[in-house]
Amino acid sequence: MSLIEPGHLFSQHSLRTYQRCPRRFLLRYVDRQPWPAPEREDAAAYAAHLEAGRVFHEWVARALMGIRSVGHDLSLHPDLETWWTAWQSFDLRALPDHLREVELPLVVPLGDYRLYARFDLLACGTAGDAVIIDWKTLGTVPRLETMRRALQTRVYLYALVAAGSVITAGAPLEPERVSMLYWFASGPSQMVLDYSRALHRENYESLLRLAESIAHAAREEMVRTDDVRECEGCAYRTLCERETAVGQDSGQGWLDEDLEFSLEEVPEVDF
Ligand code: SF4
Repeated sequence: MSLIEPGHLFSQHSLRTYQRCPRRFLLRYVDRQPWPAPEREDAAAYAAHLEAGRVFHEWVARALMGIRSVGHDLSLHPDLETWWTAWQSFDLRALPDHLREVELPLVVPLGDYRLYARFDLLACGTAGDAVIIDWKTLGTVPRLETMRRALQTRVYLYALVAAGSVITAGAPLEPERVSMLYWFASGPSQMVLDYSRALHRENYESLLRLAESIAHAAREEMVRTDDVRECEGCAYRTLCERETAVGQDSGQGWLDEDLEFSLEEVPEVDF
């Protein structure tokens, strides 16, 4: 029996979770199993880094919306001052300025399912051009090819073009006219990924294939990953009898899933 109904809301995080470990997808997104164990051994430091990232994004969102802040508490995390100082030199004037949307959530169809994306910033011009901007507070800057293949890139660009005329309130968005800009606070540096009709088609097909493979999987097919390095940072390791995996960290955390907001849970940013 399929566990996923038509209309299910997928996101880059849930799709990526399934790719990394089908059982974690089952526990996290289907069973909504509470965490039985700390997410990782250095959970406090990792959570502090994620919280600093959340605070940074909130500061940037406020600044872009023209909301004056009474002050930024840079003492919350050692990296915040570096990130904030770096962001203030980001050249916003280089972006299209006909329409700018901050923290924009989007839900678009994907076959029988739905796909969710949330843009840090979307900048649109008058000539049908549009750029998705994503602020990154990673410790290191990934390679261009890694970001090009990332599910986030594929999901966001696909969602933007699929939403098309809903965004422009007019003509659809041509894939060749849209791009994604990642800005890395730790550089600071940025990379721009172009899009195309061929990539859009490819993204549609691969994302739909992935969503359908999840939707058609039976519970007993959602099994533990073979890569035990994924288990080191996973709160379900006691349920999976993978506690001995501690110490083999893959370097990829899981807690960032929690930064994602599902459609039903989109919190109002408290200004
Ligand atoms: S502990 Fe390992 S096998 Fe179990 S859900 Fe987490 S990542 Fe998957």
